Amino acid sequence: MSSSEKINLFGLDKAALEKLFVENGEQKFRAAQLMKWIYHQFETDFANFTNFSKEHRARLAEKFVIQPPEIVAQQESSDGTIKWLLRMGEGNAIETVFIPEGKRGTLCVSSQVGCSLNCTFCATGAQGFNRHLTTAEIIGQVWLAARELGQSTTNRRLTNIVMMGMGEPLANYDNVLPALNIMRDDFGFGLANKRVTVSTSGLIPQIDQLNKDADVSLAVSLHAPTDELRNTLVPLNKKYPIKPLLEACKRFVAGKRKARITFEYTLIDGVNDQPEHARALVKLLANVPCKINLIPFNPFPGNPFRRSRPEAIERFHRICAASPIVATVRKTRGDDIDAACGQLAGQFADRTRRSLTIRRRHEANEAIAKSDQEEASPLKEISA
Ligand code: SAH
Ligand code: SF4
Repeated sequence: MSSSEKINLFGLDKAALEKLFVENGEQKFRAAQLMKWIYHQFETDFANFTNFSKEHRARLAEKFVIQPPEIVAQQESSDGTIKWLLRMGEGNAIETVFIPEGKRGTLCVSSQVGCSLNCTFCATGAQGFNRHLTTAEIIGQVWLAARELGQSTTNRRLTNIVMMGMGEPLANYDNVLPALNIMRDDFGFGLANKRVTVSTSGLIPQIDQLNKDADVSLAVSLHAPTDELRNTLVPLNKKYPIKPLLEACKRFVAGKRKARITFEYTLIDGVNDQPEHARALVKLLANVPCKINLIPFNPFPGNPFRRSRPEAIERFHRICAASPIVATVRKTRGDDIDAACGQLAGQFADRTRRSLTIRRRHEANEAIAKSDQEEASPLKEISA
């Protein structure tokens, strides 16, 4: 059997691996052993699996491979932010960003190359949809980052994951769910449920499905307090408007102790950043257990929007923070490697927009990463 015909075990969650093993005459408990080699030891060569007999290793290697994605480039910022460019085949590449913050280390993970939902302020949306990432490509981002960070069960640099890179994770549900399982499985990356966040523009049926399938944290990209305005920013709102979306959010946190939805709100100059928007927002969210992350818009070529002025951001934040809802504003980091983003772009066709996309992604992601820490003092210094 040539290696391209072999089944890739990388990216199968425990249930899928057990099923496959049983179907292939292997013992079920071998699945957990194999996962430990892959996700704890970063070992992909069956020949090194010392708790499997020599014959057994050879038998596995006959049928299976363990094939994670490849790193093309790595960049490190002076503030410790690290970006990896990963090859996704056919000239595609995506970036994964690691943001250290004290004891916390957050990884921003992508779910699709491009996105079909076409939010008017989003560079990925402008790029259009290319393809879904496979589970192996999604969990591969975590695996590569963890390996490069020297992660071990006793040295945990990667403590949080946010599905806030390129793409709409809930539009790629079938590939995202097993990745979420591996992130939280003790034989995988062993992260606590609440430390894994899925960010969505508001696909209601999939929010309800996720609620049944995975006890993770949810971030919802709201960006506007009214349907009229949200329709212009997030076209999906015409299908799933704010009221039923908030009902789905309430269902998602119902019965979960201390669970809160994170509402992301990108501040765009003169569009959604006025005091009346802030007042309407806190009123709208009054009955939803939540926090608000304000994300100053990041401009990109060909897009008419501008970032809100610092005074407008501060004013908006003050109105939110004066309500019982905790609100935070993201602070820019990793600037020096953001600047270098465009240099990496040269290696791949159509990389420039993606680099921009990732840049504002990981800034958005920081807002989530920081939000828990800032809860004690919601009115923090704003750096726009
Ligand atoms: N598709 C999902 C996850 C990826 S987008 C979603 O929409 O939630 C993650 C976040 O990126 C969005 O919430 C939005 O706040 C942010 N974002 C998109 N375009 C942006 C831009 N130009 N400037 C700042 N943040 C942006
Ligand atoms: Fe897609 Fe999210 Fe961008 Fe909207 S904001 S186009 S859902 S990636």
